Amino acid sequence: MIFNQLKRKIFLWKLRGDNYFCPVCENGFKTFLPGGPKRRPFALCPNCYSLERHRFLWLILQKLWSEDKIYRTGKMLHFAPEACLALNFKKTFEYISADIDPEVAMVSMDITDIKFPDDTFDAIVCNHVLEHIPEDRKAISELFRVMKKGGWGSLQVPMKGEKTFEDDSIVTPEARDKAFGQSDHVRLYGSDYYERLKDAGFTTHIYRKDDFFSDEENLRFSLAIENELVIVRK
Ligand SMILES: [Zn+2]
Repeated sequence: MIFNQLKRKIFLWKLRGDNYFCPVCENGFKTFLPGGPKRRPFALCPNCYSLERHRFLWLILQKLWSEDKIYRTGKMLHFAPEACLALNFKKTFEYISADIDPEVAMVSMDITDIKFPDDTFDAIVCNHVLEHIPEDRKAISELFRVMKKGGWGSLQVPMKGEKTFEDDSIVTPEARDKAFGQSDHVRLYGSDYYERLKDAGFTTHIYRKDDFFSDEENLRFSLAIENELVIVRK
């Protein structure tokens, strides 16, 4: 154990540098590492394991917090918790993590049947979950129900093109990988995803990467594959 920790410290020390900067853990590196199921180059922070989408979200949240646009304190519900973000959220929020798998979160919960009263949370983070959920509209309306009026949420999903593609006759992992981009996804969202969020009652606020970051920052934070993200409000 101690040997592994030491090995990791040496590994990180050797990677220290200025080419890349992770805003989530605030460390600079010579390089980022390949990451994601398809091993995208320069995707992963070697220290906190943030991916492009985590860094993009964290940078936008920091901007919104600095402008006092969204809550930075209060109750947060974090579904399928990403460890790199959880560490930071716990510093300011009264924090609860949830997942269907009791091993990875504080409470085990089905997202289509959330065991909290209406208007409980000031913030909800639920990234890359809905593309796994057959009844995603039910899940979105549950997230809306438990959010307080004035609250905010990050409900990131992978998106491609304009129209959402779903077909519940596609069930094998191989066929789902081919149709939806990953073997355990049940649809591939298009930009009409935002309509599903609005249908549940949320207002949507879209942040485009190019409006906030120069090409240089884009490379340095390695935000490459993410073009835009949505913050929902109730
Ligand atoms: Zn990091």
